[in-house]
Amino acid sequence: MDTFKTPKHGESLADYVLRIRKGLNLTQFELADAAGIHSRSVGKIERGLTMKLSHKTLSGLALALSVPVEYLQAVVRGEEVVAMPAIKFCPQCWNPGGAADPMWGNVRAKFCYLCGTQLRASCRNCGELVVSLRYKFCPLCGKPYKDGSGNR
Ligand SMILES: [Zn+2]
Ligand SMILES: [Zn+2]
Repeated sequence: MDTFKTPKHGESLADYVLRIRKGLNLTQFELADAAGIHSRSVGKIERGLTMKLSHKTLSGLALALSVPVEYLQAVVRGEEVVAMPAIKFCPQCWNPGGAADPMWGNVRAKFCYLCGTQLRASCRNCGELVVSLRYKFCPLCGKPYKDGSGNR
């Protein structure tokens, strides 16, 4: 689901933000509000005037558009998003609400380098992709992303 959120081939940051915003039925103002940035900033991004985003803007936009930060970074850099996984994390080591270890995000990483647990990128209960590690619980089914002790 939500495949429209994957950046298209050659899509610019401006086109991408505009397309996702429209897809979510948000006004520029609503998006800016949700992202915690000025609505003029959203306008500038969508007109292609802002090519480089600060970390704060990037993470705010990602949260507001419910897309992985990596998607935004990819369109900013003009890179192809090839079957970009959602955020990968170790269900044992990750601290809910905290940042994911960049080692887990490595495209080839399948297991946690700290404890050997298989990394996950989706809700164990319903399979919905994890789009933000700021969420401690799956927005669809309410199950916590982090495993309880002892069950894998
Ligand atoms: Zn681990
Ligand atoms: Zn779920």
